[in-house]
Amino acid sequence: MSPFDVVRENVTARQVAEYYGLKVNRNGMACCPFHDDRSPSMKIDNRYYCFGCLAKGDAVDYVARLFGLGPKDAAEKICADFGLAYDRDRHGSPPRAKPIKPKKTDEQLFKEAERYVFMVLCDYHDMLLKWKTEYAPKSPDEEFHPYFIEALREIDHVEYLLDTLLDGDISDRAFLLSEYGKKVQDIEKRLRRIKELAAGCDR
Ligand SMILES: [Zn+2]
Repeated sequence: MSPFDVVRENVTARQVAEYYGLKVNRNGMACCPFHDDRSPSMKIDNRYYCFGCLAKGDAVDYVARLFGLGPKDAAEKICADFGLAYDRDRHGSPPRAKPIKPKKTDEQLFKEAERYVFMVLCDYHDMLLKWKTEYAPKSPDEEFHPYFIEALREIDHVEYLLDTLLDGDISDRAFLLSEYGKKVQDIEKRLRRIKELAAGCDR
């Protein structure tokens, strides 16, 4: 196996980055070492992606960039540092050179992430508006339903986030994606569950 295959099968970008000193928080986010990053903008797991400077790649790309190495030297460095054996004779031509399918550009990935966050927040906004009327207390002494409270608390904030996505400049939007990416995934899961439950009741 070439050093590229060995790296791909044995270590993630995150393991490699942590080995070389990157601090990753509980949400899998880290301060990007490739730009002047004050709050964690880099999502890192099997691969890394920075919402700030749009740097991305796998373990080999990370090490190549961090130490200013070519891909082959980077892969060999990882193998050496992690004690991984590779076939020294058969890695003359880097296997990464063969294109499998056209890769998405950083800009496309960013747009996709943005579209996803926007869709989920729109959905959530609709749901909150519905809750605000459907779960409004019917009499003055009725206790507030949690959905009603959530609607009151969140609607303005969600509207602000949607406005930012529509009209904000690129750095505001990138910041929003890095700040709310995880939360939006949780919201999506929750909305899906709520809709499934509602569908189940109709039957
Ligand atoms: Zn960055």
